[in-house]
Amino acid sequence: MINKTDIRAIGLAELEKIFTEKAMPAYRARQVYEWLWKKSAGNFNEMTNLSLDLRDWLNQNFVINQIQVVDKQISNDGTIKSGFKLHDGHLIEGVLIPADDRMTACVSSQVGCSLTCRFCATGKLDRIRNLNPDEIYDQVVHIASWAKLHYNKPLTNIVFMGMGEPLLNYANVLKAIDRITKPDGLGMSNERITVSTAGIAKMIKKLGDDGVKFNLALSLHAANDVKRNQIMPINESNNLKAVEEALVYFYRKTRSRITFEYIAFKDFNESLNDAKELLALCKKVPSKVNIIEYNPTGDGLFEKANENLIDKFAAFLVKNGVQATVRRSRGKDIDAACGQLANKKHQEALVV
Ligand code: SAH
Repeated sequence: MINKTDIRAIGLAELEKIFTEKAMPAYRARQVYEWLWKKSAGNFNEMTNLSLDLRDWLNQNFVINQIQVVDKQISNDGTIKSGFKLHDGHLIEGVLIPADDRMTACVSSQVGCSLTCRFCATGKLDRIRNLNPDEIYDQVVHIASWAKLHYNKPLTNIVFMGMGEPLLNYANVLKAIDRITKPDGLGMSNERITVSTAGIAKMIKKLGDDGVKFNLALSLHAANDVKRNQIMPINESNNLKAVEEALVYFYRKTRSRITFEYIAFKDFNESLNDAKELLALCKKVPSKVNIIEYNPTGDGLFEKANENLIDKFAAFLVKNGVQATVRRSRGKDIDAACGQLANKKHQEALVV
């Protein structure tokens, strides 16, 4: 059996070249490309404006590795989560978070994760592999279809806050965003996309150099190195000074303010002193702060901070001129909230 090429791993220019080398007009390649991306075709037989011969040839030489929805769940609060099965059998997860003013897709960028953040369910898995651009794109297409089906609304926002570290899958994440934003893809706005990182300084600078137009969020969770080392091992090689410098660089290049994500943990990072340290960082990096509730991952290592303390923490920041918002979690009853994506069902199935 010949090894067929994943056709969506090929860019338009290369596809045109393949076609012209086979003495087929380049516009045919563009038609195929449009079917693949704009129309999300799942197989070549759907491409009805192509001749049967051409469709046969495509079938013989290429595959479309579409992801499959497995086990879609709907939370009491309307959040929808699904596993997605990849062509090689691996599973990832994606989430639709509906709100009055927006429909947000939360997508994964890797199978598993290598960063082992102590509070995160995905962090307990190994990193298996990076997702391809089309596997990221397909998540968005599926989640957008749920927004339409269940809420009759279009998708408005995309956050790379599912499984994996997007900046360790840099090229594919950027290719996926290109397809999501280009008119010959989904045509969504860059401003509605947020990439969240645990803080890979070198890649944050690269985002600046590449002049990206989407938003950047940094998972901070502690504004001093001793505490951050305890919960995020990545901080040992990318400490706060390095991350701060990279963020300032990113801001200078893009003029886009950073969002600091800050999970409030009980008896760990929610004191007034912690707030002062965070304030000092916010004074140096043009930013705003999202304070996130901790979502339990079943290991009992952490607890969420007292709501009263969280509100005081946020009020202190606001009083000192920082834009800070407290975000309540969504989808906890189906393990769809931040940090809970770990294919629980799949893992249970493997253990049995
Ligand atoms: N690797 C990227 C994106 C995935 S995590 C990053 O670290 O940003 C997306 C967000 O969920 C991050 O801010 C992460 O710190 C947060 N998160 C992880 N585990 C969580 C938990 N148990 N409760 C609340 N938020 C969590």
